[in-house]
Amino acid sequence: NRQFRLAQRPVGLPTDDTFRYLEAPLGEPDEGQVLVRVRYLSIDPAMRGWMNDSKSYIPPVAIDEVMRALGVGEVIASRHPQFAVGDFVNGALGVQDYFLGEPKGFYKVDPQRAPLPLYLSALGMTGMTAYFALLEVGTPEAGETVVISGAAGAVGSIAGQIAKLKGCRVVGIAGGEEKCRYLVDELGFDATIDYKHEDMAAGLKRTCPKGVDVYFDNVGGDILDAVLTRLNFKARVVICGAISQYNNKEAVKGPSNYLSLLVNRARMEGFVVMDHAAQFPKALQEMGGWLASGELKSREDIVEGLENFPDTLLKLFRGENFGKLVLKVH
Ligand code: NDP
Repeated sequence: NRQFRLAQRPVGLPTDDTFRYLEAPLGEPDEGQVLVRVRYLSIDPAMRGWMNDSKSYIPPVAIDEVMRALGVGEVIASRHPQFAVGDFVNGALGVQDYFLGEPKGFYKVDPQRAPLPLYLSALGMTGMTAYFALLEVGTPEAGETVVISGAAGAVGSIAGQIAKLKGCRVVGIAGGEEKCRYLVDELGFDATIDYKHEDMAAGLKRTCPKGVDVYFDNVGGDILDAVLTRLNFKARVVICGAISQYNNKEAVKGPSNYLSLLVNRARMEGFVVMDHAAQFPKALQEMGGWLASGELKSREDIVEGLENFPDTLLKLFRGENFGKLVLKVH
């Protein structure tokens, strides 16, 4: 069983010393356990946060523990009443060939209904994040201007499409011309800002002449600061993520333009997807409907080979992924 374990906590970007690669012998399930052959792993910016020894919404990965990763796989042995050999499951499988343990929080997925990687993108945590962060925290109304950063990424691209379905004017912020073109031509965004090649203040002025009603923030940092200056009265800022800050060696710098919230009686609210778990089934049904009708497109960026995990993770921070980054294991 090939595994990547956390060897040391990185300072800044993960390096060659961050993970230890090993081949461990594979056991048999005890009572209440399952053995799952990992098929696809979700590669998430949050993984970087899980490596820090600090208080968060879940405990950090311990040193020498298998690196945490969500994934989909096939049950190949089971001593658990709810899972049988041949079932496909979604859960925290870890960066390894096989998961052996209690299937805590695991749920079944149907490979006949959708290809497995889709259960890690639109029909998984990514889709649920976009859906609930936008609709429950952003509360967009038809005709409003919604700005989304990390817009060509997994969460951002879905959030933008949902905002379009709700009748909003949608502006995406992404790095590079190809990503920006895709957002407009393929996903129906109204406008984009290529933050790598355009000044943010000028870009926001150009694309949001009527100001910003909802800002869905995936990146934090200077982009958040720039958008704050364009907020409308009663605007909502959704703090979904802050990828620009995850590899900081110094403390995260807060937004200096936050008084815009006061002036505009606006609010900024943090979001954690698991808080909405009870409502996932209903949301998945709606998302499934949009996918089936073609109103929603999901794009997966699939890298092959468990051995490529460390560099695949870094792709997120280099902006090299296009859509949901997935590692194919088997
Ligand atoms: P993405 O697919 O969006 O990949 C990350 C993207 O971030 C990259 O492709 C890159 O795009 C962009 N990026 C990287 N570095 C920077 C930077 N310094 N400044 C601006 N943009 C940068 O990942 P996800 O969709 O999986 O995650 C998006 C966000 O949502 C993350 O912040 C993540 O932590 C958060 N999240 C939060 C959840 C929650 O419950 N709160 C749940 C799931 C995700 P580009 O080429 O455009 O720079």
